[in-house]
Amino acid sequence: SDRKYDPYRPTNFDQITKDAKDFCQELMPKPEEETRKLALLQRLSDIAVEVFGEAEVLPFGSSGNGLALANADMDVCVFLNPKEGSEEVSPVEFVERIGDRLEEDPDFENILQLKRARVPIVKLNHVNGIACDIGYQNDLAIWNTRLLRAYCRVDERVRDIVVIIKIWAKRRKINNPYTGSLSSYAYVLLVIHVLQRQGVLPNLQTIVAGNGKVPFWDCQGFNRYFFEDIPNLAHYWQPTPESQRQSIGELLYEFFRYYASEFRYANHVISIRSGGLLTKEAKEWTKDHTQPPPQQQQQPQQQQLPPLSEAPADDTELAQSAPAADSKPVVKNRYLFCIEDPFELNHNVGRPVDRYSLFTIRGEFMRAAKILSRKGDGVIGRLCVERE
Ligand code: ATP
Ligand code: MG
Repeated sequence: SDRKYDPYRPTNFDQITKDAKDFCQELMPKPEEETRKLALLQRLSDIAVEVFGEAEVLPFGSSGNGLALANADMDVCVFLNPKEGSEEVSPVEFVERIGDRLEEDPDFENILQLKRARVPIVKLNHVNGIACDIGYQNDLAIWNTRLLRAYCRVDERVRDIVVIIKIWAKRRKINNPYTGSLSSYAYVLLVIHVLQRQGVLPNLQTIVAGNGKVPFWDCQGFNRYFFEDIPNLAHYWQPTPESQRQSIGELLYEFFRYYASEFRYANHVISIRSGGLLTKEAKEWTKDHTQPPPQQQQQPQQQQLPPLSEAPADDTELAQSAPAADSKPVVKNRYLFCIEDPFELNHNVGRPVDRYSLFTIRGEFMRAAKILSRKGDGVIGRLCVERE
């Protein structure tokens, strides 16, 4: 092939692959954990019905897409169906009402009402050991969870690679959007991008049954269409023979190599919905800028802040507006690491990344690529050594 000469390219991919598979096995949640999550889901659903009448509670994120690690949080989203003519419940009101109800319940602890987040949520711990984020009417989150799950179903290597990347990012402390690094969701998008480049994954957002035109399925103004009938995908798309031969070890190395030395952070935008790269210019993602927060400009100042380590996914504006408590809160969009959301095309999932954290994250990609090039076993263990 036309692969460029790479002095770091490992020679022991079989060993890395075996290590990776063993490692994933250990990190899988046990069935007992699934049972506790289901019980909590049912409980929250009963409470939502009690507070709001008609309500539906759906899991999303790793509890909905099959990408959960052992002891992962559970993300759920509540949908209400207000009767014709009755008042809509605003996100802030939702957080208050369900938050207050949970406060009275001894089975729930550490309840935080995050009303100012880009997406308002309630965070809590259940006595059965599960930590949970409760969101509200977030259709796009449900759809992007389903998109990720569909990609996992295309090829069984996806799950293993994602699980290793997630654990690596957590152990290396670059998985916290609240402190300038990336959410797990962002890392999954990074993995999908590399696998699309390698021919392991298709672009599900442009495949249409019967090869027709891509339809527009509206969801909050964005197109949520994607090809979800994975058992019939082979009629429309086949992986390249070379991509089928690539082991998990090779693909992991390719992931780190690509983000360590090939991806051009200054110019490019990762875009899984277009199956490749876009330029920052084309998206007009060139200048960092500020804008008013989406809602709730004047919040009471006793707003609780979560401890830094427990920040919710994508809660960056909370972090950025909080210190300037006496001035008007502003949201800062950064375009240093550009990762286009597959549906919400104007949303940079890499928005929390600043100059300093970008340097740290890129350093970690380089470290990882180098570690994989070294001989010996236990490579994945060394890769995922806890930082500090
Ligand atoms: P973990 O196991 O680490 O909790 P996860 O797979 O649940 O990982 P999260 O980063 O917690 O991933 O994200 C959960 C869900 O929240 C995602 O599937 C997505 O729907 C939504 N989400 C998270 N971050 C963002 C973001 N920056 N932009 C849009 N949606 C996001
Ligand atoms: Mg999660």
